Amino acid sequence: MLAPAVSLWMDQTEHLRVSRESVRAPLDVDVAIIGAGYTGLWTAWYLKQHAPELNIAIFEAQHVGYGASGRNGGWLLGRILGEEKMLAGWPEPERGALMAELKGIPDSVEQVLVQEGIDCGYRKGGVLTCAARYPEQQQWLLDELKALYAHGHSEEDYRLLSAHELSQQLRMHQAYGAIYSPHCATIHPAQLALGLATSLERKGVRIYEDSRVQAWRKGVLTVAGHPVCAQWVVPCVEGYATETKALRDYQLTVQSLQIATEPLSVSQWDEIGLHNGQAAHESSRQVTYFHRTRDDRLVFGARGSYRFGGKLREQFRLTEDEVKLRRDLMLDLFPQLAKTPISHGWGGNLGMTRHFRPYMLCDEAGGVACAGGYGGEGVGASYLAGRTLADLILKRDTLLSRAPWVVRNQSLRKALRRWEPEPLRWLGYSAVIAAFSYEDAVLANPRSSALRRKLSSKAAAGISRLMSPEFKVG
Ligand SMILES: Cc1cc2nc3c(=O)[nH]c(=O)nc-3n(C[C@H](O)[C@H](O)[C@H](O)COP(=O)(O)OP(=O)(O)OC[C@H]3O[C@@H](n4cnc5c(N)ncnc54)[C@H](O)[C@@H]3O)c2cc1C
Repeated sequence: MLAPAVSLWMDQTEHLRVSRESVRAPLDVDVAIIGAGYTGLWTAWYLKQHAPELNIAIFEAQHVGYGASGRNGGWLLGRILGEEKMLAGWPEPERGALMAELKGIPDSVEQVLVQEGIDCGYRKGGVLTCAARYPEQQQWLLDELKALYAHGHSEEDYRLLSAHELSQQLRMHQAYGAIYSPHCATIHPAQLALGLATSLERKGVRIYEDSRVQAWRKGVLTVAGHPVCAQWVVPCVEGYATETKALRDYQLTVQSLQIATEPLSVSQWDEIGLHNGQAAHESSRQVTYFHRTRDDRLVFGARGSYRFGGKLREQFRLTEDEVKLRRDLMLDLFPQLAKTPISHGWGGNLGMTRHFRPYMLCDEAGGVACAGGYGGEGVGASYLAGRTLADLILKRDTLLSRAPWVVRNQSLRKALRRWEPEPLRWLGYSAVIAAFSYEDAVLANPRSSALRRKLSSKAAAGISRLMSPEFKVG
């Protein structure tokens, strides 16, 4: 198995990569963006869209797409983490308009891709949330559907599929049914990041690589040892927040890991399905997510991890155990792949706020705008964040700039809830994972008694409330 330096996606786009200069002298810009992932790139794109005269520079510690944006599972979702809670009680008609905006994220991204000529394998095949492996997932699916309808979604947005209906799209061992939503596309993550960078450079945005921002305060940054003056500082570092003093207590770093098979044959895919670029996952408390790549691999991600102190993971050479855990889960669903080699394994850092919801913040007095806390749902959310930060910086009064996830004229310290100090975070995380893993093992074992099944689920649900009912690891 290959251990790519960054990811399968980055290996596949090696030929598209250009090396960019690093900062070698003092600079003066209007907007200094920290991080060349989707959030930074989309923010620059929308700033240029509304104010082409702006002098914008992006400073990236490594290279474009080095972070989660060049490593993710390729799901471009038309939703954001915790949207139900954030929109609950929000006045109409804005609430309905914001829900439509979120569902429309894949289509809005596609419009830009077409406009900019970015080929990143965009396929809008929707997403299947499947009940599989054990029958309890059927009830969880129904509970989820009920909550989605209570939030205001319709059957056009989320539709229950019987096992037979699911089998017309995806065939898995022990599948009981699914919820299908059309609001998701799959993309090639690195092609999106590199494509956006190229289009920004055409518009005059300067992107500096190997240019770590070592410090920043109002109006001035230190980048690779050089001073940079900027009216606006826009940190877009998501999973790397742990290295940034101003963010580290609010945006926790966690990891997600994935494996990819060698390309499967036509007959293997005929057996599995997923012919339209659908994304799919299980409705278990622990996350598994997968899709069929453009070059016919099955990319499979599952479970997450947390390192004491929110420590960043730099090296994603997966251990045998890390690969085995994901491969075993994949084989539970697709036993016919037992002889298929795993070609790649990798992972990345992502960011979580204490509320398990993203935020988009603009502090005019401090000259800072930033966004993050997308959890494992950041491909679409970072697009929304880029658009929203541009509106906020340019003082555009729009639907997005008034959304409930927007924080205006407050510092991070005032706006976000602090994570508990260690060892509480680590203990909380470990307890939740232990309870989830125990529940999963009990439920996946057909010989487990009804009482044991019930108790394990009660324990998992109860203990997860320690963190948040929305807590998922993936
Ligand atoms: C394995 C994995 C799978 C995922 N799958 C999905 C998925 O399928 N769908 C989904 O919606 N979301 C998914 N996510 C989440 C999603 O990828 C991220 O939320 C999103 O890419 C975040 O983009 P970003 O630009 O905010 O951060 P990043 O892409 O992490 O970019 C941050 C950048 O900042 C740079 N940086 C950090 N510190 C500094 C500094 N001091 N100076 C200069 N540069 C700095 C980093 O090098 C990095 O390039 C996944 C994440 C992972 C890790």
